[in-house]
Amino acid sequence: MVDTHTHLHFRQFNEDRTEIISRFEEDRIDFVVNVGVDLEDSKKSLEITKLSDRILCAVGVHPHEAKNVPENFIEELRKLARSEKVVAIGETGLDFFRNISPPEDQRRVFIEQIGLARSLDLPLIVHVREAYEEAYAILSSEDLPEKKGVIHAFSSNYEWAKKFIDLGFLLGIGGPVTYPKNESLREVVKKVGLEHIVLETDCPFLPPQPFRGKRNEPKYLKYVIETIAGVLSTSYLIVEERTTENAFKLFKG
Ligand SMILES: [Zn+2]
Repeated sequence: MVDTHTHLHFRQFNEDRTEIISRFEEDRIDFVVNVGVDLEDSKKSLEITKLSDRILCAVGVHPHEAKNVPENFIEELRKLARSEKVVAIGETGLDFFRNISPPEDQRRVFIEQIGLARSLDLPLIVHVREAYEEAYAILSSEDLPEKKGVIHAFSSNYEWAKKFIDLGFLLGIGGPVTYPKNESLREVVKKVGLEHIVLETDCPFLPPQPFRGKRNEPKYLKYVIETIAGVLSTSYLIVEERTTENAFKLFKG
């Protein structure tokens, strides 16, 4: 399986990072895409790719950090993206839930990163919270990279899922699909099917139901796979295989 969204460089993994990574093979993790949230953090994200062939990374600026970017941030990201380990731009997007950065800054920094992804021909890892309409308006009017990318931790309804899928994006599905109250996300998965889904943990965040309140990690994707298999009345292996294929096509194709 492929975990398309990790933050293994975060301090929550300082104690056992190398141990977790060394178990990837036995845990059936083909690779992870480790995601940066600002310029300095993206450097750290790239740095830990040295620990294993199974760690690739994304470099980018999260909407919360949009107000803090240096003027030359796009050039700095472009430099980082010269490494063959960098397989996506992100996470970038819009978060109007907390508006930690002003919406205007979020829009500007998002649009500039879409342009960067397009010019480098790398897919986008898009963070959207309480901003599906606005994010869709931007993505549908900008020139997108050929491979589009992932709407990470997708959390809206089928109507919005369909719109982003029609633009060519995949939906990132993780721990929240296992939560008893999240029937609406399971409904989305049921209607969308495996063709348009990739798996992700967003670790250390968003652990699946059995580990709520604890730290998430890539091997817990198995609970996400089990839930999706149940929802689609298919086998664990089929879910694992198809989502892995989707991730390989997007990040290694
Ligand atoms: Zn994340």
